[in-house]
Amino acid sequence: MSDITTHRPRLTIDLAAVAENYRTLAAMRPKADMAAVVKADCYGLGVDRIAPALFAAGCRAFFVAYFFEGVHLREILSRVDPEGTATICIFNGPARDDVDDFTTHGLTPVLNTLEQMRLWRQTGNGPAIIHIDTGMNRLGLTGREIDEIISGEAYRSLEISYLMSHFAFGANAADPHNAGQAEAFSRTATSLRKIWPSAKLSLSASAGLFLPLEIEEALIRPGVALYGAGPQDHPEQALKTVASLHAPILQIRDIAPGETCGYSGTFTAQRPTRLATIGIGYADGYCRALSNKGVVRINGDDCPVVGNVSMDLIIADISDIEGDARVGDMAECFGDNIRVEDHAARAGTIAYEVFTMLGGRIQKIYRT
Ligand SMILES: *Cc1c(COP(=O)(O)O)cnc(C)c1O
Repeated sequence: MSDITTHRPRLTIDLAAVAENYRTLAAMRPKADMAAVVKADCYGLGVDRIAPALFAAGCRAFFVAYFFEGVHLREILSRVDPEGTATICIFNGPARDDVDDFTTHGLTPVLNTLEQMRLWRQTGNGPAIIHIDTGMNRLGLTGREIDEIISGEAYRSLEISYLMSHFAFGANAADPHNAGQAEAFSRTATSLRKIWPSAKLSLSASAGLFLPLEIEEALIRPGVALYGAGPQDHPEQALKTVASLHAPILQIRDIAPGETCGYSGTFTAQRPTRLATIGIGYADGYCRALSNKGVVRINGDDCPVVGNVSMDLIIADISDIEGDARVGDMAECFGDNIRVEDHAARAGTIAYEVFTMLGGRIQKIYRT
């Protein structure tokens, strides 16, 4: 089907670029193994296609947030990994009603609380990861809980493969909290390794890989950087664009000075203005916050989004474009020319949210 007949927003996902980003990031910690974070349907880009591509690129460890995501991932990977050799870890850890099923599906829990450690101990089952909170105050064991573990006997029977923590300020490489967290992690890990001497360390997500710190770790766990987006304002140039969002021009019209466009007429033409109406809207994840702020690329030219973003449509001012624009041409919302980070910043958000907000009407096309 041609673009003209589909008239539908289209997300192109470059699986070769994911594999290349996997290799680029792995090379940033040559001594560490690399896990891929594929939670939330691979940040909205499609775990069914991306996880097998990562496995083919050599990835053997994966993280998701929920138990059910892990069950789904095991199922997806069974096509390429029938023996179930890949490690699948669950960030949110076990709950009373699913703890017994972790082993059935070969899932490794992250233990975030003493309660989760007790639950896991009751199952008497297999390796787990301990999450140490080093300042994010979100998930993970607190200092007091760590003391309780160290001074008591209760948890020693657990098999702990990794100790992990997470940077709260990683998006800002210059933030002194980063070094503080890395030190706290190292200190706590040293204490816990008196109980679990073979436990390895895992600290860095995408942002951690770009920090100017020497970090001892055996497992890195990037997510967003695999998908081509930087965790910070200026992402590493080395990452390849993975996701490109395009939407079709549905109609072109000329309006006179003084006329407005879209709901509530929030844009008024100051001159004779040519408008292109484009088939994408906030229902597709094109944020309404981009009303009069967005930029789309049409045949080589950047064009401002004018008027309010509506549910299915946006309007771009194409008066100044050099080339031709016709009904059926595809406008780039983000991709090779409009960086997703810039698009996100104009909407007052981050690439993570832009990706995960992409709606179900968007056609996904995977390039291999
Ligand atoms: C989501 C998440 C990651 C991956 O983060 P990115 O910034 O996408 O690389 C790693 N670790 C934890 C604990 C997470 O919640």
